[in-house]
Amino acid sequence: MGSFFSFKRHFMNKLTKIVATIGPSSEDPDMLKTLLLSGVDVVRFNLKHNEIPWHANLIDTVKKIAKEEELSIGTLIDLQGPEVRTRVFVNDGEIPLKIGDKVILSTEKEPKSQNTFTVTQPEVLGYLEKEQKVVVDDGRLHFIVETPGKNKVTLISLSDGVLKNRKTMNVPGALFPLQVLNEKDIEAIEMAASHHVDYIALSFVRTAEDILTLKKMMEEKGVDARVISKIETQSALDNIDEIVAASEGIMVARGDLGVEIPMEQVPFYQKEIIKKCLERGIPVITATQMLHSMIDRSYPTRAEVSDIANAAYDFTDAVMLSEETAAGKYPLEAVKTQAQTVAFSEKRVAITDTRSLYDYLIRGCEEMLCDSAYNMVLQLHYQDQPIGGFIVFTQTGRTARKLSRYRAKYPIYVFAPDKKVRDQLALNFGTYAFLQPKIFKENTSVRVPQMTDAIEFLRKRGLVESDKHYILLYGDSWMVAGGTSTIKIIPPQV
Ligand code: PEP
Repeated sequence: MGSFFSFKRHFMNKLTKIVATIGPSSEDPDMLKTLLLSGVDVVRFNLKHNEIPWHANLIDTVKKIAKEEELSIGTLIDLQGPEVRTRVFVNDGEIPLKIGDKVILSTEKEPKSQNTFTVTQPEVLGYLEKEQKVVVDDGRLHFIVETPGKNKVTLISLSDGVLKNRKTMNVPGALFPLQVLNEKDIEAIEMAASHHVDYIALSFVRTAEDILTLKKMMEEKGVDARVISKIETQSALDNIDEIVAASEGIMVARGDLGVEIPMEQVPFYQKEIIKKCLERGIPVITATQMLHSMIDRSYPTRAEVSDIANAAYDFTDAVMLSEETAAGKYPLEAVKTQAQTVAFSEKRVAITDTRSLYDYLIRGCEEMLCDSAYNMVLQLHYQDQPIGGFIVFTQTGRTARKLSRYRAKYPIYVFAPDKKVRDQLALNFGTYAFLQPKIFKENTSVRVPQMTDAIEFLRKRGLVESDKHYILLYGDSWMVAGGTSTIKIIPPQV
């Protein structure tokens, strides 16, 4: 059982969530536990690296640690999707290049000539046009197509560097008709069912249709996870409204986005996407290179800290760490830097009525009730009354998510009916979820004294204080989806 101190430390300091990618630097169970206790809320498994059993095993380890430490931690698998990667079979997978060098992109299975490589989806060659730009390895290498061809394309290097095996290849603006899911993705979806994964992220989403293809596969394989669309192409930006409407979450995947569109445009789209997600009430993750320099150094740059703080000022639900925690030398320092930065920054955002900033989509009673609960908290705030937060009894997590989007700056303690709903809420701003007490029986009328147990549970953990106001949201009957009907204010107990 986790100590009271560790429990409090994890919950009390921040409302913005942290997603950390697991890898060789963080796979050790002791390190994992330290990261979870230092502020990581969602653990990301990037399918581009390691085999499925490696991921499956670590998902189990995360769940075991979370249980022992009484933490609600979400798990997220990140599918490769229609991403193109290089395959280099010569010189131990490396082709050194100088500006002006010619290199051949071929459909051969394992090209053996010195300056020739292939890609994971060779069918893309047929779509490359003369003078088209090709970018490899996250923007490190740039090429221009000299001679197109279905089976052989000649590229001219515009950079000095080394073309390596298994690096990303982007063709900015191109829309290749590639399969949404590769074989490993499908295997990972099967694993997600047996290992109870909470979130599935899809790379290189182009249209809402891609999400529907993934959801169909998830249904076939019996997966009950929420879907995150990674926005990293021009096409995704062009179709952003339909993608947001079809998804349960969005990741601003700034790494590939910064290659596919001019880099100076990325901060603008980051803000636009966060706004759209807030308005619809789905969580949004701001990702990539937030603490890139901490891969090799124990301290960040001022600009990196500023980037994290600005994401918090933009009201992102979560900030993400990729290589920093997966393969960096200082995973713990990176997590602490993010946790401290968001904790400080989010408290400095002036309390304003966020309805003046966002055009929240309000459909149905639950969303109207959340709007009213937000009204109450603002009124209490304007009257200088002490406020402790919200307590929400939910069946699907929906009420908590719709309340979270107001960014009320107070914690939302949630009682969920099962582990899946509880851990999926780990991604939403300000929500801290627990399992509902066993005394709640499906479809029986809600009686307020029954809540005493739940509130006592929070009080014992130092999460509810008797000198503050709490706003409760619940339904007429326990465990009925879509049934939130009531708001109750618990005043300070003097
Ligand atoms: C990105 O491109 O920003 C991203 C998160 O994707 P990945 O880490 O999978 O390349």
